[in-house]
Amino acid sequence: MLPLQSDCRDVCKVLVCLTHSRSLPKGLQLHAYVIKLGFEALPLVCHHLINFYSKTNLPHSSHKLFDSFPHKSATTWSSVISAFAQNDLPHLALRFFRRMLRHGLLPDDHTLPTATKSCAALSSLPTAHSLHALALKSANHFDVFVGSSLVDMYAKCGEINIARKVFDEMPHKNVVSWSGLIYGYSQLGLDEEALNLFKCALQQDYDIRVNDFTLSSVLRVCSASTLFELGKQVHGLCFKTSFDSSCFVASSLISLYSKCGVVEGGYKVFEELKVRNLGMWNAMLIACAQHAHTGKTFELFEEMGSVGMKPNFITFLCLLYACSHAGLVERGKHYFELMKDHGIEPGSQHYATMVDLLGRAGKLAEAVRVIEDMPMEPTESVWGALLTGCRIHGNTELASFVADRVFEMGAVSSGINVLLSNAYAAAGRWEEAARARKMLRDQGIKKETGLSWVEEGNRVHTFAAGDRSHGKTKEIYEKLEELGEKMAKAGYVADTSFVLKEVDGDEKSQTIRYHSERLAIAFGLITFPQERPIRVMKNLRVCGDCHTAIKFISKCTQRVIIVRDNNRFHRFEEGKCTCGDYW
Ligand SMILES: [Zn+2]
Ligand SMILES: [Zn+2]
Repeated sequence: MLPLQSDCRDVCKVLVCLTHSRSLPKGLQLHAYVIKLGFEALPLVCHHLINFYSKTNLPHSSHKLFDSFPHKSATTWSSVISAFAQNDLPHLALRFFRRMLRHGLLPDDHTLPTATKSCAALSSLPTAHSLHALALKSANHFDVFVGSSLVDMYAKCGEINIARKVFDEMPHKNVVSWSGLIYGYSQLGLDEEALNLFKCALQQDYDIRVNDFTLSSVLRVCSASTLFELGKQVHGLCFKTSFDSSCFVASSLISLYSKCGVVEGGYKVFEELKVRNLGMWNAMLIACAQHAHTGKTFELFEEMGSVGMKPNFITFLCLLYACSHAGLVERGKHYFELMKDHGIEPGSQHYATMVDLLGRAGKLAEAVRVIEDMPMEPTESVWGALLTGCRIHGNTELASFVADRVFEMGAVSSGINVLLSNAYAAAGRWEEAARARKMLRDQGIKKETGLSWVEEGNRVHTFAAGDRSHGKTKEIYEKLEELGEKMAKAGYVADTSFVLKEVDGDEKSQTIRYHSERLAIAFGLITFPQERPIRVMKNLRVCGDCHTAIKFISKCTQRVIIVRDNNRFHRFEEGKCTCGDYW
């Protein structure tokens, strides 16, 4: 008996509702009913069932249905490919896409974007080129959905120039094309291009060019270059467009405020949004940890549990990081154990943070045991953490043993190479020290130049050590001279041992009193009003002597000075720093 048309339509309607509400048990009942009525062989019903299983995260049920269905149409193929793509099975999505092509079906404005999305997830450039060629061949590339998806795919594969070319050639652009390209630029650290493109998007009608994804990318650019003034303007725009209620945007706002040294702003964003996702919780946790609001980090974690939000591996990384920077060994061990209770296996970064925590606290033997117990090969950052511990506690013997292990690994990054060379030098193994230095040169790794910068209005003032290129050089150096006398009276004595021991970049060659952060602070002192805190960003670690000097500067000038180095924040006030000299 043939099923009635009207029955079939009703079944489809109910299926769509159940798909929207993702009601698995009711959907399963309806599927049973469909089989009983013999509707399963109808293309439309099959298509809705495939979608239903895809949305309820059962892509393999979609797969089974698809295989058992005899009359596969373009829609059925499209549904099953989407099912795989939406459930993070990009390999399967692409395999079925190829099978569809072999069946003689042409890709359309739905299947092509699905395939490019899967290709982007795999970052596979050869596949990207094939899909692009297919779009050209099937004359689909002028379609706005296909074009945008190509832009997004190339951007995610890191081929930003091709992405730009496709973008420029598109007759019509939509929000996906704009946000895809802005995201691509921001991921590659091409901040200026990202911001320029964002400006173009705003100049055209921003209602259709900007979404939460775009705003979040731009906010990330602002945080990475600590463009606080611009970031605040973008926050204003988020507010105006109501995207500030998106968890995605809120997370980026929290890290913007935190990275620019204004953690209070982050708290405000966090408090204002009551519906929070895990990304937001994690963003707030890392902000607290970086600003040494250690107690608050633990409090938030408790709160997370009480509202039923499940932590993930990033959450635990934040907690361990907070413990490590506050020297809370027992607490750190507690969280490390707690991970397993939550079914999360510690990754190499968790081990590195644990080793860092133990190493800094002087428990070097215990740190070594943690490394020995690692189920995977220790990474460079794990050894680096142990080397740092050795340096702080002057254990030259262990340091040179670790250095030997790292040497066996072959190519390493420049940061750890400097640590290696210092470790050998400290142990008097000059030959190896020279070898480490030579390796650094041979690999053509350039030592990072130490830079500090201050934002003033729409301008960023950047200083290198001993820099004399700034317009106000004369005033800056005079200010430092004047400060030097006051600081000496207050009891400051420069510790020149840091010139040789601790500084990693090429700041070493410069006289310690003209390290970049001091020039930036002097600039802030002569430029900003008394009540405005001086915010300095630095790309390398602050050396011990500058840390002491800044404490004295904050006392002598009665100013609040916030310094972000490559690792954490220091807030200097009244001759003290929030890090408690533990960094
Ligand atoms: Zn310094
Ligand atoms: Zn500090």
